[in-house]
Amino acid sequence: MAGARQAREARDTSILFWSERGEVCCALHAPYPGSDTWIWERWRPMTEAETREWTRTLGSAPRCEICREEE
Ligand SMILES: [Zn+2]
Repeated sequence: MAGARQAREARDTSILFWSERGEVCCALHAPYPGSDTWIWERWRPMTEAETREWTRTLGSAPRCEICREEE
């Protein structure tokens, strides 16, 4: 979680997190690490293996839902 806070402070949108519900957000747009929402929705970093699996299953790399909407 310390790493997640660092990524957020660096406004790093290349690091992805996801929740138990399958929502994907970058370090900037995910709930604040350690906040109630973060804990309740069980946010955690996406591992390399999970990123690969996502890409294989859905045919495109996972992206932050909020960054995608802003494009
Ligand atoms: Zn984002």
